[in-house]
Amino acid sequence: MISVTEALEHLFALARPLGVETVPLLQAHGRVLAKDVAATRNQPPFNSSAMDGYAVTEVAPGLRLRVIGESAAGHGFYQTVKTGEAVRIFTGAPVPDGAKAVVIQEDVTRDGDWITIGDNPEDNDHIRRAGGDFRIGDTVSAGRVIGPNDIALLASMNIADVPVTRRPIVALISTGDELVMPGETPGPDQIIASNTLGLHALMRDLGAEPRLLPIARDNEASLRTAFDLAKGADLIVTIGGASVGDHDVVANLAPQLGFDQSFYKVAMRPGKPLMAGRFGEAMMIGLPGNPVSAMVCGHVFVAPVVRAMLRLPAQAAPRRSGVLAEALPANGPREHYMRARVTDGGLIAFGSQDSSLLSILGQADALIVRSPKDGPRSAGDHVEYLPLR
Ligand code: AMP
Ligand code: MG
Repeated sequence: MISVTEALEHLFALARPLGVETVPLLQAHGRVLAKDVAATRNQPPFNSSAMDGYAVTEVAPGLRLRVIGESAAGHGFYQTVKTGEAVRIFTGAPVPDGAKAVVIQEDVTRDGDWITIGDNPEDNDHIRRAGGDFRIGDTVSAGRVIGPNDIALLASMNIADVPVTRRPIVALISTGDELVMPGETPGPDQIIASNTLGLHALMRDLGAEPRLLPIARDNEASLRTAFDLAKGADLIVTIGGASVGDHDVVANLAPQLGFDQSFYKVAMRPGKPLMAGRFGEAMMIGLPGNPVSAMVCGHVFVAPVVRAMLRLPAQAAPRRSGVLAEALPANGPREHYMRARVTDGGLIAFGSQDSSLLSILGQADALIVRSPKDGPRSAGDHVEYLPLR
């Protein structure tokens, strides 16, 4: 058995970063920026007024100036302002040549074509310098998930088409004679497939393109059909059949069908029977069937792999530090991911940590991470956890 950290190292070595495609800016939200992009213009492109007021060559209390024109947003005034003159100006308008400051309209009295600056004009020129926000060549760096603020910045830079990493196609295969799909009527000895549905949602959240394949039955022909249907996927995720029982098709048969296994079994709880390797052009991860194990392994292993494929940094799932509200017993020899609630008083682990209890995973806000053989912990101790919300 290998550690979670070793398993992640193997997984990152197996994961191949995907190619780049260009999408219109409006479709770039949630995608990963695959190349640095550079501004092709300065912002603002000219010295721009930050306020409504008057552009002037000097500011002094009581100064009287003649208004010679107007500069509004989208309608600049293209003459030079001289001593003794002012130009009526509005927010976002180009500051005319010769002007050194904008006096806000509140600091001015106007009388026909003349203005008089008041007794206490503000000590601020109210000019946004050309290129003060960004300049030609300034870049937005690759390797980030593009959010709404990035979209606004890219738009301002006039980047209408954005280079993003192709979405990984993730084939999800449930295995088991006991499984039917949600909405179907299960037989007396059957249950509903849940893991592939939860993983489908997780993949969508990560920006992958999940494909839910038909359930593979516990026989070679059915598993072979499922792998055939998975052709073209970048990542194949099987669920169940990963142990060493007679009916564990993935562990028993996948190697004969083309799976080149890199490791098997990770010292973690839940989720021990985990395998990974290459399958032709695809990477494959075999998750355990127990519903909580499958979802926890989804967060701990599949999500970081998908991020690496998307050209995000190859890193373990991000952890936070929190305080225990209740004591915890000593941990066993495997890294333990304990379902827990985050309360105002700190983290509280659920009493039952059985890997079949989805109801408890559904209530959990966090997975407290216990390292192997971690001793008993008291209320008030700091622990690391993976946030689930
Ligand atoms: P296995 O690893 O195939 O022995 O499965 C372990 C347990 O997880 C069994 O109780 C299975 O019925 C259950 N299981 C396997 N796959 C799924 C699935 N896709 N959805 C829900 N439960 C599953
Ligand atoms: Mg099974």
